[in-house]
Amino acid sequence: MENKDVVIVGGGITGLSTAYYLAKEGAKNIVVIEKSYLGSGSTGRCGTGIRQQFTTREHIILMRESVKLWKEWENNLPKSVHFRQGGYLWILKENEIDTYREYVRLQNILGVNSRIINKDDVKLIVPDINTDGIAGASWCPSDGNAYPFDTVDALRIALKQFGIPIRQFEEVKEIKVENGIIQQVITNKEKFNTHFVVNAAGFGARKIAHMVGIDLPLKLYRHQIAVSEPVKVFLEPMVVKGELYFTQTYRGRIIGGTDLDEQSTESLSSTDGFLPQFAKEILSVLPTISSLNVMRQWAGFYVVTPDHHPILGGTDLPGFVLGVGFSGHGFMLGPVVGKLLAAYIMHGTMYLPEANNLNLERFRSGRLIQEKAVIG
Ligand SMILES: Cc1cc2nc3c(=O)[nH]c(=O)nc-3n(C[C@H](O)[C@H](O)[C@H](O)COP(=O)(O)OP(=O)(O)OC[C@H]3O[C@@H](n4cnc5c(N)ncnc54)[C@H](O)[C@@H]3O)c2cc1C
Repeated sequence: MENKDVVIVGGGITGLSTAYYLAKEGAKNIVVIEKSYLGSGSTGRCGTGIRQQFTTREHIILMRESVKLWKEWENNLPKSVHFRQGGYLWILKENEIDTYREYVRLQNILGVNSRIINKDDVKLIVPDINTDGIAGASWCPSDGNAYPFDTVDALRIALKQFGIPIRQFEEVKEIKVENGIIQQVITNKEKFNTHFVVNAAGFGARKIAHMVGIDLPLKLYRHQIAVSEPVKVFLEPMVVKGELYFTQTYRGRIIGGTDLDEQSTESLSSTDGFLPQFAKEILSVLPTISSLNVMRQWAGFYVVTPDHHPILGGTDLPGFVLGVGFSGHGFMLGPVVGKLLAAYIMHGTMYLPEANNLNLERFRSGRLIQEKAVIG
């Protein structure tokens, strides 16, 4: 039996980032519990993208802050997370331009340097692009990407330096609550006395919340993704067109995915329908890569809320804290979410007021905040 001030469930970017910022705030007696290896959930399966081109105040302000923190991580963590600001090029048809111009207006008001560009400018950014049917793009040069496994590993090393234990291959099985207060977290290996639990369990978050009698409005959607063999780097931005997205990693691999309109599922298997669809879509935009070989394809979960915003902060149960429901944008939000949750635990409030709008209560009161710029 061990006593802990905070138990963090989940060794993806949310759990590790929360532990990192708690440690930076001086918390010492905390533990991260991960049922498999670090990054084995959605974090290690994601498309690496980091963008501020969203449509709500909440997402734009959180992501503007997160980009600032990504820069700090690149400079201050014990190893590079390969954060690169190669931009996001969101390709648009004629009938989409006006709508995206409105999104850009809000982004600019909130300090994000996005803009609408024409077809010729698109060609300057990605010379190989096929501009047939393209009217222009929404372009933000300060968006970018980072490498998930280097990020997870950099956080692991930082936590080790702070003396924070990470327990891998250990599963949380039960959370004991007595008289409305959390008492204990029980894993398959240990019992932890604690009054604070951070639910950063990704696709397992609903199950963790059920352990304390809370139902979370989360659905799992499988998303498939692939990487190519490496080639000399020629593509800096993330390119988005409809449901299709792709970029090139610092290792030279083209990584990307698209949506197959799959139903909510618990299965993580790849399917044979994905590659033909992805190849068709990506080659219509970038025909010059037709001879590249695909090295690997895999699937992961988008953990989706009804309004495509995460659920952050406290619950009716004192000490039960949520960092869940990130749809297809939880990797990019990782730094700011960790810092917000650490602030909530240490000081009782998240330091960006907009984050308070992303509470669980909004689903009871019906104050949903719909995000419209959802990819995949
Ligand atoms: C194909 C795909 C592409 C994506 N592309 C992007 C992108 O480009 N940009 C972006 O920002 N986001 C992207 N996402 C979304 C992003 O991957 C997730 O939102 C983010 O990684 C969530 O991180 P997390 O730490 O909250 O969850 P996870 O990384 O899933 O971590 C949760 C961890 O909790 C552990 N766990 C669960 N239950 C228990 C338990 N009972 N006990 C102990 N541990 C437990 C799991 O094993 C898991 O490792 C993508 C997702 C997919 C699937």
